[in-house]
Amino acid sequence: MGFLNMAIPSRIENVIIGAGIHGLSTAWQLAKKYIELDIPVDGKIAILDKTGLAAGASGIACGVIRNNYFQPAMRKLMAHSVEIWESDPRALHYHPVGYMQVSCESMRADIQKIHHEQQLIDYESVLVEGEKNSEKYMKEIFDDWQAKGITSVLHEKRGGYSNQTKTIFSLAKIIEGLGVTIYGETEVLGFISENNSTAVKSVETNRGSIECDRVVIGAGPWIRDLWSMLELPQKINIKNPKESIFHEENMWRYWQLEEGVLKVNPEVLRTNKGAIPPVMHVDTDATLYSDIDGSKITDEIWGIYYKPDPHFGGVQGGASPYKVETPVDDVAVDPYGPSSTEFISSKKFANMWVSALAHCHKRFEGTMSSYNKEPSGGIGCFTPDSFPIFDHFRENVSIIADSNHGWKMIGVGHLMVEEILGNKQSLLDPFRFNRFEQGNLHPVSNSPYPWS
Ligand SMILES: Cc1cc2nc3c(=O)[nH]c(=O)nc-3n(C[C@H](O)[C@H](O)[C@H](O)COP(=O)(O)OP(=O)(O)OC[C@H]3O[C@@H](n4cnc5c(N)ncnc54)[C@H](O)[C@@H]3O)c2cc1C
Repeated sequence: MGFLNMAIPSRIENVIIGAGIHGLSTAWQLAKKYIELDIPVDGKIAILDKTGLAAGASGIACGVIRNNYFQPAMRKLMAHSVEIWESDPRALHYHPVGYMQVSCESMRADIQKIHHEQQLIDYESVLVEGEKNSEKYMKEIFDDWQAKGITSVLHEKRGGYSNQTKTIFSLAKIIEGLGVTIYGETEVLGFISENNSTAVKSVETNRGSIECDRVVIGAGPWIRDLWSMLELPQKINIKNPKESIFHEENMWRYWQLEEGVLKVNPEVLRTNKGAIPPVMHVDTDATLYSDIDGSKITDEIWGIYYKPDPHFGGVQGGASPYKVETPVDDVAVDPYGPSSTEFISSKKFANMWVSALAHCHKRFEGTMSSYNKEPSGGIGCFTPDSFPIFDHFRENVSIIADSNHGWKMIGVGHLMVEEILGNKQSLLDPFRFNRFEQGNLHPVSNSPYPWS
């Protein structure tokens, strides 16, 4: 895909910007709809990417697919996306191994609520409560489980993970088969409108101008730049719903996600029955000590996630992200490398993450030397409340700004296509841009993550 010598047409009905998970899933659904309506797809739907397939966050995502969210609107949306992952696990490289949220007491009430509401939407999960019961449940799965002070386990029977680049390449093949064209090395530089209209008439690229009827943007961490090209506000007013007062905030902010790989045989992390375990997520306030020298790492709440993953060549996962303090306009977006000035050394992360693995499982004690030395992780662009914006702007521009929640959200592009075709989707309503000025913000949990 995306050969430089492939001429760029002067007109494409639907221009989709970004060949990540959202651009591809949008193109997939739009092409299917065109085919259903007997409209030829060729030349009418195209994806432009300044680099190529999986060049953004979708190429480095850990690939975790879960429902575990404190925010009801997020849970409903994830349930919809999980159905799409489940619709063709083989083609989507999806592994439905389930997901486990293991937590300390300060998170128990939140987890009870999540479990209760999962039952209301028929999302299968098991809740185990109390320290003894939680320990027993975990030891039945992993006989070397040793984390103390865990008082709830939420075991989602659906969800799991997928292999990001394999999924993206497979999706690209599917959509090209439906007639969608993907143009790589095609960078969008701006948008042109006609007098008296805010609608985008043409997309300006490094390879020429493309007239269009509709633009869909899935630009991952570069959304700040596309937003700016559309002349959308850089600062917004946010209403405090309790006091009806407003405060102003920057539209975008960046967080650095830290991830890593323990280069051991992925089979090391199997259940007592020899099965691939659910994706694990542990949040606890138990004091964390270094597995290298026994020194205290933290006595504040900390969290890790991990899974055995042959695609990464070991046990892969991450920990809580940290804020990028560089002024938002100066952040160099490079999803393949941590922003240099902000990067907390991989040594510090490795000590925390591997020690946390050893805190949970005896089998990981003394494994620090197997930690992959390459820095990994990447940067995410977040909204003021850290939840997505899925909305339509300037008459014909649809934006999927997932606030870095989005690998799992394969269904959002499908819902956006329905809206483009005139069918409003209630699942997207809680993610409109005007929620900030209306004070309709999502509830905040006690988790140490900005995305739970
Ligand atoms: C380290 C890490 C781990 C993650 N793990 C998970 C996880 O386990 N589960 C989960 O659900 N989410 C995860 N995420 C979040 C998830 O990866 C992203 O939310 C999602 O991939 C974003 O998809 P996207 O299609 O919007 O953007 P991207 O995948 O970033 O794609 C955007 C594309 O737009 C192109 N582009 C940008 N600007 C332009 C331009 N001007 N012109 C043309 N093209 C342009 C880029 O080249 C890029 O290919 C993780 C993120 C990171 C960084």
